[in-house]
Amino acid sequence: MKDYIEVDEWKIIEQGFNPHHNKVSESIFSLGNGRMGQRANFEEAYSGETLQGNYVAGVYYPDKTRVGWWKNGYPEYFAKVLNAANWVGIDINIDGEQLDLAKCEVLQFKRELNMQEGYLKRNFTAKTATGKIIKVEALRFCSMADDEAGAIKYTITPVNFTGWLTITPFIDGDVVNKDSNYDEKFWDEIKKESWNDGGFLQMRTKKTGFEVATGMLVSALQNNEPVKLHTQAVTKEKYIAAKFKLQAAEGQSTTIIKYAANLSSQNYAAADLAANLKETLTRISKKGFDVILQEQADAWAEKWKMNDIIIEGDASAQQAIRFNIFQLNQTYTGEDDRLNIGPKGFTGEKYGGSTYWDTEAYCVPFYLSTADQKVTRNLLLYRYKQLGKAIDNAKLLGFNNGAALYPMVTMDGTECHNEWEITFEEIHRNGAIAYAIFNYVRYTADEAYLADYGLEVLIAIARFWSQRVNWSDDKQQYVMLGVTGPNEYENNVNNNWYTSTLATWCMKYTIEVVEKVKASEPAKYTALVNKISFKEEEETARFTDIISKMYYPYDEKQQVFLQQDGYLDKEQILVKDLPAVDRPINQKWSWDRILRSCYIKQADVLQGIYFFEDQYDIETIRRNFDFYEPRTVHESSLSPCVHAILAAKLGDEARAYEFYLRTARLDLDDYNNDTEDGCHITSMAGTWMSVIEGFGGMRVINGKLSFQPFLPGKWRSFSFHIGFRGAVLNIKVSKEGVQIKNLSGTETTVLVYDKEQVVKANDELLVEA
Ligand code: BGC
Repeated sequence: MKDYIEVDEWKIIEQGFNPHHNKVSESIFSLGNGRMGQRANFEEAYSGETLQGNYVAGVYYPDKTRVGWWKNGYPEYFAKVLNAANWVGIDINIDGEQLDLAKCEVLQFKRELNMQEGYLKRNFTAKTATGKIIKVEALRFCSMADDEAGAIKYTITPVNFTGWLTITPFIDGDVVNKDSNYDEKFWDEIKKESWNDGGFLQMRTKKTGFEVATGMLVSALQNNEPVKLHTQAVTKEKYIAAKFKLQAAEGQSTTIIKYAANLSSQNYAAADLAANLKETLTRISKKGFDVILQEQADAWAEKWKMNDIIIEGDASAQQAIRFNIFQLNQTYTGEDDRLNIGPKGFTGEKYGGSTYWDTEAYCVPFYLSTADQKVTRNLLLYRYKQLGKAIDNAKLLGFNNGAALYPMVTMDGTECHNEWEITFEEIHRNGAIAYAIFNYVRYTADEAYLADYGLEVLIAIARFWSQRVNWSDDKQQYVMLGVTGPNEYENNVNNNWYTSTLATWCMKYTIEVVEKVKASEPAKYTALVNKISFKEEEETARFTDIISKMYYPYDEKQQVFLQQDGYLDKEQILVKDLPAVDRPINQKWSWDRILRSCYIKQADVLQGIYFFEDQYDIETIRRNFDFYEPRTVHESSLSPCVHAILAAKLGDEARAYEFYLRTARLDLDDYNNDTEDGCHITSMAGTWMSVIEGFGGMRVINGKLSFQPFLPGKWRSFSFHIGFRGAVLNIKVSKEGVQIKNLSGTETTVLVYDKEQVVKANDELLVEA
């Protein structure tokens, strides 16, 4: 746990230079716009601890993963998001001395991430080894308004000398991934050009053949007047730079403006990249830095209108929730159905930038409420388009008849994970994909999605489950053997309650949707039946049989669902009795010891209760929560939010707040000591859920929004916006009660503490406390 980040409601501030935390700061202060992003690396050279990272969404490399413990059915490769050309670099040389904060005495340093307007600012005063003091202010952003563009304004002022500055803005494509095997490099240079005021590089990824053109246009000002640049082109393999020298008098500022653009062959023919890149650079530079910075502020203001959560009375909580929302918006904007949400977004390499069940289970609720419904629809379409590969994947594992097993980890639909206990066994991810379809339709009422895309995915998933179970003669029930639940601290277990529950729910929901689509869209239904050779009667009869005869482990004595068969054979020492030195167990214990213990990595049975809450009475929820929570170590960032929501549901406000705190400042305070690898982006959606579904108690019940809010003790109020079926609501929870403003022209009926309230168009009401 670190606490060097200053509290501010709209900014993340690092005051004073913390080189030992630099990699953590580089993650926290990351920038992105859904299309590209980067860690908060310095513009000037830095020889201290750093993890360089620039990423382009959807551009990946299939790294070979053949290993000695190869198993049939393992994927050929692990797709990883690539560290791409660095466009932020500006080398500064002062009278022959390279500016490098690791070699300077840093007299003052401040870094701030302005979340309201979407930029990163850094200023410092440093003394070089020869005693020259300089002041620098650097401001940069990845444009939300023009998502292939970014810009930097870098101002340098000599404090105690007059001298020559040699300034070298560059684009460097000679980059590596920290996680690459054998230090392999993944990019080949295709072409480059240098101009007096900039240049570009076009690179191609090995194997996947993505091409990315990254370019810059540079200008400079002194005394606020443009300087005519006479640059010298510096070119090396995978590198271009425009070097120039200027004299700077003591106290005189020199400002460099570097416009940058990043275009990928995902959106242009490779042969047209250069021309389009030049056009983008010309367009943004003609507008000028101040104009595009203003566009950035406007684009963020637009985002915040729907996204902001305002917390009164707790600045630290306010900062944290905004940070989570800011990072989610930087990661995914929902315009492109080929893109998804990597667990680390653009803030690091870990998890390969790939798609996990995190998207469906955690991120979907956030985007449903805060963005246009097409954003979530695009997330669903991403999986729809990968259905063929999910069917191939299942085939590889021995399933047939169009059964689909979606991958645990993927970029383009191909499974990329090769730990057998996860690849083959952590199959609950398939259910999360079906659940997201259900969640989307429940929320939006877009039933057309089911006929056009959803049902095809549901049938393929239901077919998988119907083949994955087997009949137990002994039990005279269906069982599901050899699985790993969300709790990855148990592998190869039989009858994981969550997975089995989700599987039968998927089959039930599929049957329901079959009936619905057959009735509402008979022609589309027939076309689908033919396309996928669906034998309705026979297949749904099998689903129904499994649904009615499925085995779920249960402990009669304690009346709780059992996480899996045999869970109670484990030594039941609660987390509170675990010595602090043993935690986190994933860093302190052998894997064998973890597997034999009763400790639960993340919500498992409770994840199921969260999904299907309306099927259980409050006492059942309480018994299971009281049993599982004391055994959960929350060593996945995805865990505390589910516990926060259930604690809130059970009226345990103090615990709900305690769990919320664990997710909200996870990265800002580096709770898990791993933020240097990148921020936990997908769990940030869980933080949002803790506030809205936890403290706000929001649910969708029979096509209506329902709220059961409470105010966490420390807060004076909290308020948020929700978009729901054409209505835009602002909900404010305070000591006075629950105020609901309808900011749209669509009248809507909501439930507040189970009582219906009609909120007329552009009207408001107060439900008193
Ligand atoms: C969790 C998974 C999750 C993955 C990526 C793992 O630690 O156990 O549930 O999908 O991280 O966030």
